[in-house]
Amino acid sequence: MTSSRNTISCPCARSCGGWIIVCSGWPARHWRDCVASRGGDPTIAAIAPPQAAERYRLVELASNIADYPDNFTRFLLVEAALPEQTTPSDGGARRTSLLFAMRHEAGSLARILTVFAEAKINLSKLESRPRPGKGWEYLFYADLDCDAREPGAAAALEKARELCAEFRLLGSYDIAPPKGEAPPRTAEKKDRAPLASAPKPTELPSSAKNWPKAARPSKPNGTVVRIHQVDIGGDDFVVIAGPCSVESREQVIATAQAVRVRGAVLLRGGAFKPRTSPYALLAEAGRITGLPTVSEVMSVDQVERMARSVDVLQIGARNMQNFDLLKAVGKTTTPVLLKRGLSASLDELLAAAEYILSEGNPHVILCERGIRTFETATRNTLDLSAVPVLRERTHLPVLVDPSHGVGVRRWIRPLARAAKAVGAHGILVEVHPNPPEAKSDAEQALTFDDFEQIMAELGQIPGYSA
Ligand code: PEP
Ligand code: MN
Repeated sequence: MTSSRNTISCPCARSCGGWIIVCSGWPARHWRDCVASRGGDPTIAAIAPPQAAERYRLVELASNIADYPDNFTRFLLVEAALPEQTTPSDGGARRTSLLFAMRHEAGSLARILTVFAEAKINLSKLESRPRPGKGWEYLFYADLDCDAREPGAAAALEKARELCAEFRLLGSYDIAPPKGEAPPRTAEKKDRAPLASAPKPTELPSSAKNWPKAARPSKPNGTVVRIHQVDIGGDDFVVIAGPCSVESREQVIATAQAVRVRGAVLLRGGAFKPRTSPYALLAEAGRITGLPTVSEVMSVDQVERMARSVDVLQIGARNMQNFDLLKAVGKTTTPVLLKRGLSASLDELLAAAEYILSEGNPHVILCERGIRTFETATRNTLDLSAVPVLRERTHLPVLVDPSHGVGVRRWIRPLARAAKAVGAHGILVEVHPNPPEAKSDAEQALTFDDFEQIMAELGQIPGYSA
């Protein structure tokens, strides 16, 4: 990998010839920058301080990339693609970066700049930099307010290329929105109308007095729980997947990688048996793939330790009314995935959520996972009617777990589709590299192929629009 002050060539194994562009933004002075990417994908990477890589769960591809000890990077915007492959703008402003060297002729810089002036292209940056390893030779780095694929800009760039001794178009990219506060982890949707079906407060059942903080009127537009880059409760349907329980390093990493490439955004995994540090293995698989993790906390004394290693604390169905545990997770700031108890009414589920909210933790996600009925054909009875009812009565996001809901591999697929159609914000499913070998819940473990099929089918189902 070569490096200079403002660009480095793409480190991708395919030698695509693309460039990583370093622009203005994050004041990363004094950091020893690295190249990092989500899930270790070498074709899309960022230059970042290692602290940022850790925070955003990126995998380091190269460390200490600076070629000067006092080098500093102001930003990290990355386009590993060739210029012609740049992402189409969605209508926002675009910028193009290039570097060039002029011929040693009087007025050569002026001629090049005139080309851009005549094309009415603004130059937002022009800098000359010494060429690494070549004393007294300089390269110009320029940022132009245009998209290299617009016909006018493309013609101007071609004209400029002819006037230069050396010319390299680095790429075009969207101009980042102004820097602001990081979005809060959990927010009320401000920009959307309330659900059309959202009832007036008087339409809530009288039992709603037991769960005022969970009741929709307290946040009419709904709550979005943010877990790193993933929003639950927003417009995207999220898929959380992973093994029932963490069995080995190989098992959890293979599953994490398989579900990630097929579109899962969070990694689940129970740590029920004291096998080799299951939380540490889950956290490692999360780091490798860039997936935030969800795992069940079963007792109050586990809460603090688990909150340090997983991103979402799950309260299992059997603990839904363990009020000490609810209060303990309510005292943390870690998002909580609260599963409906086996014989719990929706009122009781919301009252359980209220315990967590009342302790000050607003990051609560509800999960329908099947209830106990007289029916024995399925492991539980997946109560999909809970979804529209909950969406009307509470502002909290609602997930569905069809795996525990039916307990039979081949019935998970239709119920996953149904969950999306009925308005859930996402699903939680169990996936195993080799289901017959699974140490728990083997009957309901999906293969990687099953999971792929579910993901493909979910893509065909319109989300619920209220
Ligand atoms: C689980 O999700 O791993 C689990 C044990 O689920 P539940 O608590 O719904 O049975
Ligand atoms: Mn399970």
